[in-house]
Amino acid sequence: MLHTIKKIGVLTSGGDSPGMNAAIRSVVRTCAFHDIECYGIYRGYEGMIEGDFEKMDARSVKGIINKGGTILKSARSKEFRTKEGRATAHAALKKAGIDAFVVIGGDGSFTGAMIFSQEYNFPVMGIPGTIDNDIFGTTHTLGYDTALNTVVEVIDKIRDTASSHNRLFFIEVMGRDVGHIALNVGVGAGAEEILIPEEDLGLDRLLESLRRSKRSGKSSSIVVVAEGDKIGKNVFELKDYVDQNLKEYEVRVSVLGHMQRGGSPSCFDRVLASRMGVKAVEGLITGKSNFMVGLKNDQMELTPLELAVKGKSKIDMELLRVSDIMTI
Ligand code: ATP
Repeated sequence: MLHTIKKIGVLTSGGDSPGMNAAIRSVVRTCAFHDIECYGIYRGYEGMIEGDFEKMDARSVKGIINKGGTILKSARSKEFRTKEGRATAHAALKKAGIDAFVVIGGDGSFTGAMIFSQEYNFPVMGIPGTIDNDIFGTTHTLGYDTALNTVVEVIDKIRDTASSHNRLFFIEVMGRDVGHIALNVGVGAGAEEILIPEEDLGLDRLLESLRRSKRSGKSSSIVVVAEGDKIGKNVFELKDYVDQNLKEYEVRVSVLGHMQRGGSPSCFDRVLASRMGVKAVEGLITGKSNFMVGLKNDQMELTPLELAVKGKSKIDMELLRVSDIMTI
C-alpha cells in the first residue's frame, strides 16, 4: 500500500560522525522543497520513545553544514530493543502525526528501524553515518572521508617527530571489524606496515619489514594498526614485542581514539550528505520504505536495509597490494 507522507521525522542514532548535520539539513530542506512537514527527533530512539520532537523548517538548519557532531544529539536506547519500548515510540510518533522517518546511523540503528517498520508497517529510510565505512551497499558512509583526512594529517605530524628521533611509531586507528581507515590512511601517509582485521600478515613479516626499512636507511617508521588487527596484539603488546626482538628501534605508541570522529566534515562528506538526504526523502515520497541510501559508482542507490545490515563491506585487496609495492 502506498502511504501519503505528510510529516517526516529525522533522527541520528548510535555513534556520531562528521556529516550528520549536513544530512539533517538536507532532509529538512528536501521536505520543505516538497511541502512536507519535518520534525527533528532528539537523542535517537531514546527521544523517539519520549516524544522529544521539534518541528524544523529550512531556516532551522542554517549554519550547520560545516559542523561536526549532530545538533539532534545521538544516543543508544536499550528500551527501543524491547517490544514495549517500540510500542511507546510508535504511540509518540502517531500522536505527533509523524508518518515516516529517516534514521542516520550505523547497522544497529538500521536493525532497529527495520524491526519497527515491520511491526507497524511504518515507512523508514536509512542514511549510513559512521566513520568506519563498515556498511554494505555504499562505497562511502558519512564521516569516513573526513576521518581519513583527519587521521592522515595527524600521522604526518607524528612522522615529523618520528624522523627527528629515528623512532618507530605504532599508531592505532579505529576499525574493529574492517580495515578501511587503516588501509587508506596507511597508504595515504606512507606507512611502512598496515595491520588490519582482514589479513594476518604475521609477526615475522612485521619484523622483517622493519629490519628492511632500517637497512634501507629510513629515518622513521610508521606502522598503522586497526583496533581489531588480525595479528591479535594491541599497539602496546606490539611495542613490547618489537622492544624484545628489534633492539635497534626506539618504539613509541599513539592511540588516536575519539578525535577521529570529530571535526568539520570534508567537502566530500558535505556533498554526500546533501545527496543522501534528498534521495532518502524522495524515496519515502515515492512510496519506498526499508531501504538504505548509498553511493555506488558515483550514483545514489537504494539497498534493502536487511542487506545493508547483513552484508559485509569489503576492503580493496588491490590497495593492499599497492601498499606492499609502496613500502619496497
Ligand atoms: P555505530 O556505528 O556507532 O555502531 P549503530 O547504529 O550500529 O552505530 P548501535 O548502538 O548498534 O549503533 O545501535 C543504535 C541503537 O539502535 C541502539 O541503541 C538501539 O536503540 C537500536 N538498535 C540496535 N539494535 C537493535 C535491535 N536489534 N532491535 C531494536 N533496536 C535496536
